[in-house]
Amino acid sequence: MASERQINVGGVLIGGGAPVAVQTMTKTETADLQATMDQIRQVAEAGADIVRVAVPREKDVEALRAIVLESPIPVIADIHFNHTLALKALDAGAHCVRINPGNIGGSEKAAQVVARAKELGTPLRIGVNSGSLPAHLRELEFENPVEALVTAAVEFVELMERLDFTDFKVSMKSTSVPNTIASNRMLAERIPYPLHLGITEAGTKWSGSLKSAVGLGTLLADGIGDTIRISLSTFHAEEEVKVAWEILKALKLRERGPVLIACPTCGRLQFDMDTVVAEIERRLEAYDDPIEVSVLGCAVNGIGEARHADFGITGAKDMGMIYSRGEPLKKVPTEQLVDELFAEIDKYYAAGKHVVRDETDAAEARAWLAENEDETAMTPERMAALEAEAADGREAAPLRLDEEASPVAGRRFTRA
Ligand code: SF4
Repeated sequence: MASERQINVGGVLIGGGAPVAVQTMTKTETADLQATMDQIRQVAEAGADIVRVAVPREKDVEALRAIVLESPIPVIADIHFNHTLALKALDAGAHCVRINPGNIGGSEKAAQVVARAKELGTPLRIGVNSGSLPAHLRELEFENPVEALVTAAVEFVELMERLDFTDFKVSMKSTSVPNTIASNRMLAERIPYPLHLGITEAGTKWSGSLKSAVGLGTLLADGIGDTIRISLSTFHAEEEVKVAWEILKALKLRERGPVLIACPTCGRLQFDMDTVVAEIERRLEAYDDPIEVSVLGCAVNGIGEARHADFGITGAKDMGMIYSRGEPLKKVPTEQLVDELFAEIDKYYAAGKHVVRDETDAAEARAWLAENEDETAMTPERMAALEAEAADGREAAPLRLDEEASPVAGRRFTRA
């Protein structure tokens, strides 16, 4: 259930069924114009739709004025405690201002900010944090933190409505993944305004990405959330953007750039797939098209479930093969697999997104695949396919182990 209402942050629509917008926050001192602009360009390049900058001092407002003019993407000013700065950020041309009505100095000061936002036609983000709930909700927070968070958000929404202001989105931040999920589910039922999702202080690139993927992914899969920010403890804000995109791509909510699929590897692997996958991932960053590239660690499955991939490789000890959409393209020495893969991808684009196939090379590759494929091997992929078949309720006769076959790799499983 996407939000009913929609707001427009500097040309980026949020809510009301618009694509989920990716945002991040700069990590630089905002007043350091050069460093801040460098980072904004980097995050825009990585795919941020919107960027937020902290505005804690007068000198940051001065920089904000220039940033708004120079930034390739809309800019949100992040203000805490100081309604004068919020007013100045609005006057400086921020495309949106984030305030926490609970710490801005009372409802009268919040009303002044709202009045200026209305005058300028600038939307606001109303943010509530689990760590800074109003005093009258502290007891409730102790008993029921989710209800306390939602109550605070609803109270702020009601304040905005009393001020006859509806041009805002709402965020509720908690460090707890379950509380983030539960509170946003509850709030989405209660208000029609767009929701900004994030897990606050999520952690390092590794743990923070996982927490965010679980928390935000659960909500997004339910259709809740109109813009997301991944908070990671890294100076590299573009990493937050990349994680946000991976979440949206995984849920098929948005497309951006290539999709890399790779097998998890197992004891059949015969080449250094870790290095190969990392290299492919790095080189794919240069492509904008949502092309799908697959890497299989061995050829015993054939092309298997990578059949739909636009391009892929599968390797063995000395030789590997490049394939496209389920058909072998060419066989190449393992150490040339990555370069040859990208040569094929580039040929495809040069031919106007048409796979260029040399029949002699393809025949050689098919022969290589036939030699290396092992239809009897019970690989993770084949086990998964059989399980899926059984789960689908299709007639899945029990597997019978053919004792005639070789005792280990060659065990032959057949349908009874
Ligand atoms: S059997 Fe599957 S998981 Fe194992 S290396 Fe081959 S493709 Fe990868």
